[in-house]
Amino acid sequence: MKKIQMVDLKGQYADIKQEVDTSIQEIIDNTAFINGPKVHQFQKNLENYLGVKHVIPCANGTDALQIAMMGLGLEQGDEVITADFTFAATVEVIALLKLTPVLVDVDPDNFNIDIDAIKKAITPKTKAIVPVHLFGQCANMEAIMQIAKEHNLYVIEDNAQAIGANYTYQDGTKAKAGTIGHVASTSFFPSKNLGCYGDGGAIFTNDDDLAHTIRGIVNHGMYERYRHDVVGVNSRLDSIQAAVLDAKLPHLDNYNQARRDAARKYNAALKDVPQITLPKTVNNCEGICDTCDCHVFHQYTLKLENVDRDALVKYLNSHDIPCGVYYPIPLHKQKAYQDSRYNEADFTVTNQLVKQVISLPMHTELEDDQIEFITTKIKEFIANN
Ligand SMILES: *Cc1c(COP(=O)(O)O)cnc(C)c1O
Repeated sequence: MKKIQMVDLKGQYADIKQEVDTSIQEIIDNTAFINGPKVHQFQKNLENYLGVKHVIPCANGTDALQIAMMGLGLEQGDEVITADFTFAATVEVIALLKLTPVLVDVDPDNFNIDIDAIKKAITPKTKAIVPVHLFGQCANMEAIMQIAKEHNLYVIEDNAQAIGANYTYQDGTKAKAGTIGHVASTSFFPSKNLGCYGDGGAIFTNDDDLAHTIRGIVNHGMYERYRHDVVGVNSRLDSIQAAVLDAKLPHLDNYNQARRDAARKYNAALKDVPQITLPKTVNNCEGICDTCDCHVFHQYTLKLENVDRDALVKYLNSHDIPCGVYYPIPLHKQKAYQDSRYNEADFTVTNQLVKQVISLPMHTELEDDQIEFITTKIKEFIANN
């Protein structure tokens, strides 16, 4: 058996090496390092893939979120509602822009922002909602867009973990994650479902005016050379990263399929363990369904009951099985984001999840014997403790 890794980027590279190497060499030969033709080509290809009018590449997923909020013209004191159970980048940029983060609880089944909690958190100062499509499947976008419409709010999708996933509406129509809200951000961090070989990110929108504003913001607020109409930032995708991404984009659906296959095998091996709750796919689609691509398993995350989670992590690690706890601390309890207005009773799900969740190795190169070994060790631990 090959050594088990949380993410196997080497194995993935081996299959596309020639394409990637040639493409990177071309950029070095042409020296068009910033905003070269490769960046434009990747942008167009991603627009086509997603079915979105505008993709604006930028330096990373955190910048993408920040720039999306800048583009919408959100101002100091505006309240932005987001999930308590996510990576800190989401709330970090809200705070950096001197907007007011309002963290709310999540759904215990799909880990995404809870609809009733959003409704409860809306005040006259609320300007935007940031659903995070956590672990690879969309939040309940239909309900979120409805709330946004009723209260005249912007919706910014944090799509760092769900690129390529489909969202299925109640009437059966589908849209790609990140194309439903007013604007979306994504990350091309190496371990993401579409990752480059360094940092990268992008913003998506169907709004022509917003796209124009954002294209200036990413480049020092410049719409014409050396004319600065708004305060911008320096956040560009390098051509070398675009070359990697453009080589990988045609494989994205297969990569996501490989993740779903691995998830299905994990499910089959663990389904009879009463202490384990398997990941649930929701959004009008039950089970791990290939036809709809509703879940792209950025993480394969189990919920444990009556199991010492941290002892299980140690046990797996002692057998050279890496695993992760995403996320161990609710954001509302992080020192940087505490707020006296928060009430513990409003965070019962997140407070519970941080103690229960464990994410198993998940990537495009997982092999059957590895999944067999991982699940055997989990069952062994649970049976003996
Ligand atoms: C990875 C991630 C980000 C940040 O992306 P970077 O490219 O690392 O800046 C933001 N939000 C979520 C949910 C993420 O998983």
